Amino acid sequence: MTDQSHLDSRYFVDERVYNCPFCNRRHVSYTVYNLVSFDWTDTKPCRAFYVACDSCGNKSMHLTFEDLSVYEIQSGRGGRAYRFQTEKDVDAGAMLDQAFFYSVPTSFFVLDERVPRVLRELLTEAEGCLKSNFLTGASACARKIVYELGVLNEAIGENYEDRIKSLKSIHSEVDPEFFDTLLTIQQVTSTKVHENSYDGWEAKHLRVILLALSDVLHEIYVVPALRADRRKSILSLKSELVPESKGNPSAG
Ligand SMILES: [Zn+2]
Repeated sequence: MTDQSHLDSRYFVDERVYNCPFCNRRHVSYTVYNLVSFDWTDTKPCRAFYVACDSCGNKSMHLTFEDLSVYEIQSGRGGRAYRFQTEKDVDAGAMLDQAFFYSVPTSFFVLDERVPRVLRELLTEAEGCLKSNFLTGASACARKIVYELGVLNEAIGENYEDRIKSLKSIHSEVDPEFFDTLLTIQQVTSTKVHENSYDGWEAKHLRVILLALSDVLHEIYVVPALRADRRKSILSLKSELVPESKGNPSAG
């Protein structure tokens, strides 16, 4: 079976299942229980979809400028319920995540809580900016993540590029490809502009930068913790089986 872990980092997995931002359950079913339209401007309608988690019952809101359709799956005394109508052969979760430019709660939950809060907040803000096409805001957040990550890890370097190089050498356990990706994008986009001008990042660059950054954060803060947890549970199972063992491999 192919690796499906990328589905964990989405808001919507498909038209029936999402990753609940409230109870933090992954792959739990949800129901659209309400939808309204309003005018963003006099020429631009916006639609809000209200979604309830079928497990914890908490409700979230999602805004889109796209004309998403739903069909009714329930009416009557229990209230109305809808489901998103999606084309066959379309990745419904990817389509929905792409369509919604703003959600409350945000997709903050997709980053493990072991990642320091300041970094999670910046990444969430960067993603929100990017979804709304606020590229300057998204770029500023991405730079701030590298800056804060540098501070937390005692990286050296006066600028973005040097801090990434320093982080790369500090965290040799992280796949260097992620840091190299960040450096390459910086280099290909900053050739023409002034040293302190970073107007070169477009949405396509930012998407890759944020993806690389979230992988870096996962590798630095989550992977070692998971490994430690696994080690602890194996050791405790072992001590149940071999209670007398006190680190003497030749015993028994
Ligand atoms: Zn829930």
